[in-house]
Amino acid sequence: MEVAENIAGIKKQLPQDVTLVAVSKFKPAELIMEAYNTGHRDFGENYVQELADKYEQLPKDIRWHFIGHLQSNKVKYIAPFVYLIQGVDSFKLLVEINKQAQKNNRIINCLLQLHIAVEETKFGLSLDECRDIFKNGSLSELKNVKVCGLMAMASNTADEAHVKGEYAVLNAFRHDLKADGYDLEIASYGMSGDYHLAIECGSNMVRIGSSIFGERH
Ligand SMILES: *Cc1c(COP(=O)(O)O)cnc(C)c1O
Repeated sequence: MEVAENIAGIKKQLPQDVTLVAVSKFKPAELIMEAYNTGHRDFGENYVQELADKYEQLPKDIRWHFIGHLQSNKVKYIAPFVYLIQGVDSFKLLVEINKQAQKNNRIINCLLQLHIAVEETKFGLSLDECRDIFKNGSLSELKNVKVCGLMAMASNTADEAHVKGEYAVLNAFRHDLKADGYDLEIASYGMSGDYHLAIECGSNMVRIGSSIFGERH
């Protein structure tokens, strides 16, 4: 009941063009079903094994977003069904996703993850590395992946001006890419603590966990 209310409350605040991904990591299938039963279909998971298990247990029309750090050797476990792989942080990983997508006879949608936060521990490409992937002619040879946007995590700080600055860099970069002819539909940034700010700064996909399902332990 609470999950349904939380989802409804958040959706009411989101502009029409912003997609909500409900981040369900560590949360049981029953809670996911509470969200599902409100009509929600986009869910995000961080761990390959947990995602594969939940895929087996839950309705097959769920759109599963992989939002964690993905190791190349694990792509094969989610390739048959994943809807969007957020957080691609190397060309090598794209090559592997392409290979596994081909085996499954499908095209897998991907976002490139940018490293904009100050924390070294976060994953992602620098802006230059990201630009190189687009300029590298080999991207067009990967027929079974579609790069449809960018994903990022801001620094973990209460300093709103700082976070806003990071998102502004990201938004400007997306517009630069657009000017260069790479029109990327999806901009995935913003979590429970900062999604309002992220939307102000051009996000059109927010990944929200604790504000829907409660704190993770
Ligand atoms: C866990 C996680 C989220 C959701 O975080 P909340 O603060 O619970 O909303 C969003 N994005 C990524 C990449 C995550 O790992």
